[in-house]
Amino acid sequence: MSVVVVGAGLAGVACARVLADAGVPVRVLDRAHTPGGRMASRVHAVQGVDRPIDTGAAYFTVRDPEFAGVVAGWRTAGLARPWTSELAVLDHGERLRAPGPMRWAAPGGLRSLVAALAEGLVVELGHEVRRVGAGPTVDGEKADVVVLAMPDPQALQVLDPCLGAVALAADRPWRPVLAVAAEYGERCWGELPAAFVNDHPVLSLIADDGARRGDAAPVLVAHTVSDVARRFDADPCAAIPLVVAAMGELLGITAEPVWTQAYRWRFASPERDRSVPFHLGEDGIGLAGDGWGSARIETAWRSGTLLGREVVRRLTRL
Ligand SMILES: Cc1cc2nc3c(=O)[nH]c(=O)nc-3n(C[C@H](O)[C@H](O)[C@H](O)COP(=O)(O)OP(=O)(O)OC[C@H]3O[C@@H](n4cnc5c(N)ncnc54)[C@H](O)[C@@H]3O)c2cc1C
Repeated sequence: MSVVVVGAGLAGVACARVLADAGVPVRVLDRAHTPGGRMASRVHAVQGVDRPIDTGAAYFTVRDPEFAGVVAGWRTAGLARPWTSELAVLDHGERLRAPGPMRWAAPGGLRSLVAALAEGLVVELGHEVRRVGAGPTVDGEKADVVVLAMPDPQALQVLDPCLGAVALAADRPWRPVLAVAAEYGERCWGELPAAFVNDHPVLSLIADDGARRGDAAPVLVAHTVSDVARRFDADPCAAIPLVVAAMGELLGITAEPVWTQAYRWRFASPERDRSVPFHLGEDGIGLAGDGWGSARIETAWRSGTLLGREVVRRLTRL
């Protein structure tokens, strides 16, 4: 028995965790040099101290009781902490309050949660997969099951067009987002902790990275609307002045940031949800990720976990 999981984001790692715990040999391959995928955290020195900034997902919520158990483990280990249950909404010059579910953050950055779940697994980083074919095969190498745990458009880039999974992965477009991180000389925006921005031409969300991290560093991360991400796709850094000006206008910041960086997410989220949690074809090709459900971190964990269990059932029936 051998399973190859392509993608070391939360879905792929959760899937591999189930398989490894059941004694099924599994390799996880990711083209990136760190696990985490869109739960991305980049280290940047603020006032001389290295700290992570969340440049992909902003936070996570917990509804599923099983996921709550995993999160409780992360909390006990000091990896995750409840952040806030009330975000702001910036709406045409007004600042409203949006009470909601608890938003969780990770002191070491969201990527640290995926890295913790991946501990003890065989994860090959810097390994780009180019073709998943019938058999199934990964770049010509046979496996019993191959799982693609990534956004559909990325799966489509590697799936052989003859495979049945292609039609499933091609059923809807995905939206892009640019994330811009900005460090200021001091905190100059009062209490945030994060704000949804309604009907704005540039921004959809601003998060206070110092508040979510708990170290009060003067760092904001803004997410653009998809139109802006498309417009600046070829040169994301060129969007920085527009994003900084929008943050200034929305939060009343007059100071200029001392450092900025832009991050491009071509496939941030799908335009429509799906109701099934994963796909596992008779041909041994599995699909998982946050695209299988309502696109968020919890969905990625659930999708990978449920697919992992189904693969164990199938392989142990053989
Ligand atoms: C800007 C932004 C903001 C977000 N905000 C939130 C939020 O606030 N709350 C929330 O719950 N969720 C949020 N999300 C969504 C959240 O990040 C995802 O739901 C979750 O991280 C998806 O995990 P995944 O494992 O399904 O996919 P990914 O994390 O995308 O993992 C896919 C992995 O596959 C790898 N890969 C792709 N192609 C190949 C290949 N050919 N060979 C090898 N490896 C490959 C990639 O490198 C990547 O590591 C946000 C996402 C973005 C981009």
